Amino acid sequence: MADLGYRPFDTRTVCDFVQPLVREPVVSAEEIGDGNLNLVFRVTAGSGRSVIVKQALPYLRVAGESWSLTRHRARIEADAIEAHGKLAPEMLPRLIHFDEALSALVLEDLAGHVTWRDALMSGRATPGVAAAVGRYCAQVLLGTSDVKLSSPDRKALRRRFVYSELCIVTEDLVFTSPYIDSPSNRYDPAINVLAESLRADQALHKAAAELRFAFKTRDEALLHGDLHTGSVMVKDDDVRVIDLEFAYFGPVGFDPGLLLAHLALARIAHEASGGGSYARLIDDYAFEFWDALSDESRRRWSPTEPWFDRFFARVLADAARFAGLEMIRRIVGLAHAQDVDCLSPNNRLQAQNRVVSAGRSLVLGSPCAGFAELWNRATHEEHYA
Ligand code: ADP
Ligand code: MG
Repeated sequence: MADLGYRPFDTRTVCDFVQPLVREPVVSAEEIGDGNLNLVFRVTAGSGRSVIVKQALPYLRVAGESWSLTRHRARIEADAIEAHGKLAPEMLPRLIHFDEALSALVLEDLAGHVTWRDALMSGRATPGVAAAVGRYCAQVLLGTSDVKLSSPDRKALRRRFVYSELCIVTEDLVFTSPYIDSPSNRYDPAINVLAESLRADQALHKAAAELRFAFKTRDEALLHGDLHTGSVMVKDDDVRVIDLEFAYFGPVGFDPGLLLAHLALARIAHEASGGGSYARLIDDYAFEFWDALSDESRRRWSPTEPWFDRFFARVLADAARFAGLEMIRRIVGLAHAQDVDCLSPNNRLQAQNRVVSAGRSLVLGSPCAGFAELWNRATHEEHYA
């Protein structure tokens, strides 16, 4: 991508950038990103009103400057916010402005929101959030699939999302690296043997490769692409989905699978640290998520397509497998889940073992017959729907 005046913002230059977009003097900016990939600033004007500026850096921040990564992901995020925003307007932050040359999005500030992950880690009840995210999945996944869009409209939308290097990041980090001796893998020395057992497991290796093929070839719906609990922000009953830079077309079960993986990680982490009653609340959230996804999908399904049950059974089977891979990679791969990483060493070791073994049973087991079975495997406990 040509430079055309691109420069990473600092707290001064980001104010100059925002000034022409707002009617009052901009007074301050702070960097707020917990930054795996990008710079994120909160820019505040004299009245106290603020906006968020998210700017793509030309490399993968979490891996260091040596892993270059296209700034085109800012364009992908802007396009995905628009496409998903049409289908679930109340669920996305408003895109106020997009600057292609600077790879920068100006977004509505979700001030006072916290990530769902932070809320879950702190043991706070989050009523309604799981169901809202389940409905969002149904709205945007069915809404960008051939079931809801006319063929010409869908093909036109499809063409806007040209191949993205971010897909390779997912292919590498989710489907490939955890199962080979990759320099990007990161894990506790205490689980060396566990990580080694993943690399030696031929059945797992094969299953991951097959799922990678599905991810690359099954062009079913415009996915969020990175729908974990840190991509959901909540404040009371206001629930928003952020961080759509990994959006691309793929299998419908992918987003729900990722989200469930992170609920399972949260649950296992609470269990490992003795939070049994909160762990059971997370069970409720998982079922609420799935029920909302299922009900809303059924409601939105086209009456001219008499095969909803078969479709949804496949979504469930796919979601289970994608969830399993996501759980495993968050223990041995490059990017971890805070829920588990922040535990004390003994609890962490227990949780890491449980997550990997749950992941294995999700990936390698026969297709799940119902959601209770998926969740049993994800958490290694018996749950009844
Ligand atoms: P990255 O992909 O670089 O991690 P995110 O889009 O996930 O970037 O944003 C990083 C963090 O910035 C989020 O976890 C959240 O705390 C904050 N953030 C991002 N977008 C907004 C927003 N619209 N309003 C408020 N905070 C936001
Ligand atoms: Mg991101």
